[in-house]
Amino acid sequence: MKVILSHKIELKPNNEQETFLKQSCGVSRFGYNLALDVWNKEYDAGNKPSAFSVKKLVNAMKKEVAPWSYNVSKCCIEESIIDLGRAFNNFFKVSNTRHPTFKKKGIKDSFRLNNESFKFVGDSHLQIAKLKSPIRICESLRFKGKILSCTISRQADKWFASVNLELDWNSEQYQQQEPSCVGVDLGVKSLAVLSDGAVFEGLKPHKAALKKLRKLNKDLARKVKGSHNWHKCKLRLAKCHARIANIRKDYLHKLTTHLVKNFSIICIEDLNVKGMSKNHCLARSILDGGFGMFKSLLEYKCKLYNVILIKADRFFPSTKNCSSCSEVHDMPLSKREMNCKCGLKIDRDVNAAINLKNYGLKAVGSPA
Ligand SMILES: [Zn+2]
Repeated sequence: MKVILSHKIELKPNNEQETFLKQSCGVSRFGYNLALDVWNKEYDAGNKPSAFSVKKLVNAMKKEVAPWSYNVSKCCIEESIIDLGRAFNNFFKVSNTRHPTFKKKGIKDSFRLNNESFKFVGDSHLQIAKLKSPIRICESLRFKGKILSCTISRQADKWFASVNLELDWNSEQYQQQEPSCVGVDLGVKSLAVLSDGAVFEGLKPHKAALKKLRKLNKDLARKVKGSHNWHKCKLRLAKCHARIANIRKDYLHKLTTHLVKNFSIICIEDLNVKGMSKNHCLARSILDGGFGMFKSLLEYKCKLYNVILIKADRFFPSTKNCSSCSEVHDMPLSKREMNCKCGLKIDRDVNAAINLKNYGLKAVGSPA
C-alpha cells in the first residue's frame, strides 16, 4: 500500500537564512495575489481562466513587475498559482467555500517547494535552491520514501519544514491477534470517553493558556498600533496561539495513537462539526477540542494500522438508550448519570461509548 505522510521538522536558520525565508514567503504571497488579480481580470474580460493560463500570463509579467522574485526559488510563485487553482476549484465544486481572497502579510506565512528545489544534506541540514548555505534542522527525517514536496512555514518566531513523502506501508504487520472493539464518545465535558471507561480530558490542559490569551489580547488592544511594544506584544500573542495549537495537536495525536494501537475496531459518532459549531455555547468547546482534527487524524491512522473505523449515523441515539437493556431515557445535557430500571447506574458518556461499541460490533457482524 502506498501512503503519503508528512513530517514537520523545526528549522534553525541563521539571520541571513531567515531573511531568505521571509523573502520567499513574501514572493509566494505576491505570486498568489498577482495571480488572483490576473484571474479576476481575465474573468471580468469574459475569459475562462485556469491555473495554467494564469501561470502563463504571470510568467510573462514576472520579469518586469517582480524582478526580485528571481532571488528565491521559482517554486514560490509556481506553487502558489497551483494553490490558487485549487482554491478556485474548491470554490466552484464544494459548497460553502468562499471565493479566494488576497493574502495578507503575517498571516499563515509559508511557501512550498517541489522535490527538485530542496534536498537534505546528511541528517542535520536542509538545502533550498538559491540559498547559499544549508539550514540546520532540529531532527532528521523520520520516514524513508519518495520525497514529494516541502512546505516551509512560520509560526510565531519559529520556522518549520513540513515534508511530504510517499512510502510503501505494510499495514498487515499491525494485524492484531485478538480483535477488540472500542466505542469513543466525543464530548464537551471531556474530549473523549472510551467504552472501557478511560477518559481523555481535552480542555483542561489549556485553560491556563486561554486565560493568558485573553490577557494578551487585551494588552495588545491598549498598545499603539505599529509601535515597538505593539509588535512585541503581537509576537507574544502569536507564541501563545502556537502553544495552544501545539498542546491540542499533541494531545489528539496521543489519543488517536492510543486508540489505533490498542483496538482493531473503533466506533465513533459521525459528528457534523460544521453544524455543531453554529450552536453558540458549544462552539468554543468544540473548536478547542478539535473534533475535526481528531477525525482526520484517526482516519489516516486507522488506515496505517489496519484498524476498522466505523462511524455511527448522526442520528444514532447513543446517549438516550440504556446500554444494558436498550430502554430509552430522556437525557438532557445537565443529567450526568443514567439510572435505569434494569439496575444499570452509569456515567452518561461511558453509556454512550458502550452503545457505540455495540453499534460497531453489530456493523462488522460480530456477536456482542
Ligand atoms: Zn437498562
